[in-house]
Amino acid sequence: MDNQSLRESARALFPGGVNSPVRSFRSVGGNPVPIARGEGPYVFDAEGRRYVDYIAAFGPLILGHAHPAVVGAVQRAAAEGTAFGALTPGEVELGRRLCEATGLERVRFVNSGTEATMTAIRLARAATGRDIIVKFDGCYHGHNDGLLVKAGSGVATLGLSDSAGVPEAIAGLTAVLPYNDPEALRAWFAANGERTAAVIVESIAGNMGLVLPEPAFLAALQEVPRAHGALLIADEVITGFRLRYGLSGRLPGADLVCLGKIIGGGLPVGAFGGRAEVMSLLTPEGPVYQAGTLSGNPLVMAAGVAMLDQLATGQPYRRAEELARHLENGLGTAIRRAEVPASVVRDGSMLTLFFRATPPRDYAEARESDTAAFARFHAAMLERGILLPPSQFETWFVSAAHTEAAIDATVVAAHEALR
Ligand SMILES: *Cc1c(COP(=O)(O)O)cnc(C)c1O
Repeated sequence: MDNQSLRESARALFPGGVNSPVRSFRSVGGNPVPIARGEGPYVFDAEGRRYVDYIAAFGPLILGHAHPAVVGAVQRAAAEGTAFGALTPGEVELGRRLCEATGLERVRFVNSGTEATMTAIRLARAATGRDIIVKFDGCYHGHNDGLLVKAGSGVATLGLSDSAGVPEAIAGLTAVLPYNDPEALRAWFAANGERTAAVIVESIAGNMGLVLPEPAFLAALQEVPRAHGALLIADEVITGFRLRYGLSGRLPGADLVCLGKIIGGGLPVGAFGGRAEVMSLLTPEGPVYQAGTLSGNPLVMAAGVAMLDQLATGQPYRRAEELARHLENGLGTAIRRAEVPASVVRDGSMLTLFFRATPPRDYAEARESDTAAFARFHAAMLERGILLPPSQFETWFVSAAHTEAAIDATVVAAHEALR
């Protein structure tokens, strides 16, 4: 089927023609590209047209598409049986690697990042006997009811539902504070500390475009919740194993850590972990219920082990970062030449080009970006064979499989597109 027939068939089958909303290209307009296959830094649409890919499945594919070690591991695992509903060697293998690389004492595997944050919050509530959760505006932690919440009218009020179908009674248990604002965090805890179970935060914010955490904010996150008996939940679903082998290192004191994306090698995965004492509150050891028919699935575990084997050498990180730096420099030059008010934010192999003269510090600033300009830029890049994440508020992912040629082609396209 050609691209257009696929899109039409999909629209008749799935709401908005997709199974996850950002894929619809709603925020950039234009037609979503149905992808038939991928190879290294490239994806190919249903008509065989090739694109340099910076979506990378929204984060997992740090080794690029169809890495032979990952594909081989999944094929071998599939031949041995796809699911058992029992402990398997693959879980022990990946679990051990995760704990060794992260310092987490215990982990549990789930099927998505959404499940990981959902259960981390349940655990934090059980551990503290408190109900209220603090999150930060612009951070995304999956589509759990209690996390689809926007800020209320003031920084010291509880949140409001940010999706139809989320009861205000649930949204009202979440407070939303500005990212990178240690004073707002202190003020919240001074007034509501004894009611607050946990703070959940992206160690590096990747879901409002890339927004880097400032040192004073990171320091407050490690100090303030603990001082009030609340837990810190570091959401490392994007950043875990993205910048280096293990956690990002931004929030070393976190009580619970959520993982996903890279650790499953591109298969559906999530995990959360922490100290044995907190994790032992989970069933069957403790009273906090959590389960999953396909959790720790052998194909996922095999893909994760193969992925981590490749990453353990550190080489893919050096390579991906070198390429990302090359891209950052090229985009910077293109922005200056075109004299457009735009800025590039990068950390390791993650990057966002904001149509805003200076990098945003929080979601309010990120939202000041010229999203119409981003939409035009996205379309112009797509025309030139470069597939960017279809929103100003997403992070571009460079993989270790990108090549100098692919990056150079991207920079040339950006020079043209920005004009
Ligand atoms: C992607 C993401 C999630 C949700 O993971 P899913 O597997 O999509 O449910 C949670 N937190 C962060 C930071 C993410 O980027």
